[in-house]
Amino acid sequence: MSNRSEQLFAEAQQHLVGGVNSAVRAFRSVGGTPVFMRRGEGAWIEDVDGKQYVDYVLSYGPLAIGHAHPEVVRAICDTAASGTSFGAPTELETELAVLVRELMPGIERIRMVNSGTEACMSAVRLARGYTGRDRVLKFRGNYHGHVDALLVEAGSGVLTLGIPGSPGVPASVTETTLTAPFNDIDGVRELCAEYGDSIAAVLVEPVAGNMNCIPALPSFLQGLREICDDSGALLVFDEVMSGFRAALGGAQAWYGVQPDLTCLGKVIGGGLPVGALGGRAEVMDMLAPTGPVYQAGTLSGNPLAMASGLATLRNLARPDVHASAEAWTGRLLAGLRERADQAGIPLLTHQAGTMFGVFFTDSDRVIGFEDVANCDAERFVRFFHGMLEAGVYLAPSAFEAGFVSTAHDEAALSHTLDAAERVFADL
Ligand code: PMP
Repeated sequence: MSNRSEQLFAEAQQHLVGGVNSAVRAFRSVGGTPVFMRRGEGAWIEDVDGKQYVDYVLSYGPLAIGHAHPEVVRAICDTAASGTSFGAPTELETELAVLVRELMPGIERIRMVNSGTEACMSAVRLARGYTGRDRVLKFRGNYHGHVDALLVEAGSGVLTLGIPGSPGVPASVTETTLTAPFNDIDGVRELCAEYGDSIAAVLVEPVAGNMNCIPALPSFLQGLREICDDSGALLVFDEVMSGFRAALGGAQAWYGVQPDLTCLGKVIGGGLPVGALGGRAEVMDMLAPTGPVYQAGTLSGNPLAMASGLATLRNLARPDVHASAEAWTGRLLAGLRERADQAGIPLLTHQAGTMFGVFFTDSDRVIGFEDVANCDAERFVRFFHGMLEAGVYLAPSAFEAGFVSTAHDEAALSHTLDAAERVFADL
């Protein structure tokens, strides 16, 4: 392990809570010291000791065209030279909105925000304001940012009323949050039979990326669409992760299911802080200033963030760019399965465009939180550290999805598969 990272982490812990600014970075579930990074280029990142890694974290998803892409860097620098923020409208905001609408035609109006959390928080408020109802339904193992009402862990029962998942969240805030198991449409039907006319929104990650990577069953999303149509609840797709990844047009294009509202984040900012909420004009126009549901932000639509997102999406939307990264992801997973097989290690993989998951399990079906929890966690920890040592950077948790960029090339593929072959041999 890197001495420099250990020194920097010891110092950081004196000043930053847990030495990090986002809990997931602290290596708590895999042990050891978080590796401090100093630069990235394309598919590769370099730590503070100069060691190189093929990066499958990509800042937890945003860097769809790789680190420090020249078009993104130029866009940010050129924009910064003319001022970093105005608190007044700029042309870039409309340009990004137009591009997002081209890629996701079901979105008629957009509001830019600064993070995925903000997008989901505003989606809940808007859905409640639009429907005049208070309840929201979410799924076990789905994460929608650190929004009080959505920080709810389902209990061990099949269907559970909301219990706060964190101290500091009042029970009164989560008592209107219902949870159901992911991919269990009958569970949702039962819940809606009882509470349907008081549910404002059904929020779902159409490709779950916060319990490893689990694409929803197509029938599950179609079922949710029907249930929402029947009950009058809004269907909200949290595409903060799956947007511009499951397909260029997001999971809604991949599945052909149209939500009422879509939460975006990550790729839409190309590595700068952006989130967005989009959807049907009739619903979106309930937001201030056209409507009564309050929403605002000092830095929302920030020029640097808009420029970074625009450069990223323009590049990604060129013919064959996203498709070739998807194909690369498929080759990565086939290569990993083959090498695991040779080493006698049961490995299941999931792919949704340029998102992926690997599961150490001999089960052939992982569709919900319990299935992920039943995978071999200890083997994942050894795999993670072996790959890290061998120069492959994976998220430090078996509950995170992996990400591929358009910069992942033949060299990155063979480096990763050679590393995996050696690591699997020792598992
Ligand atoms: N929704 C989903 C599906 C996410 O994956 C995340 C972040 N991992 C969020 C919301 C929250 O986004 P942010 O961290 O930008 O607030």
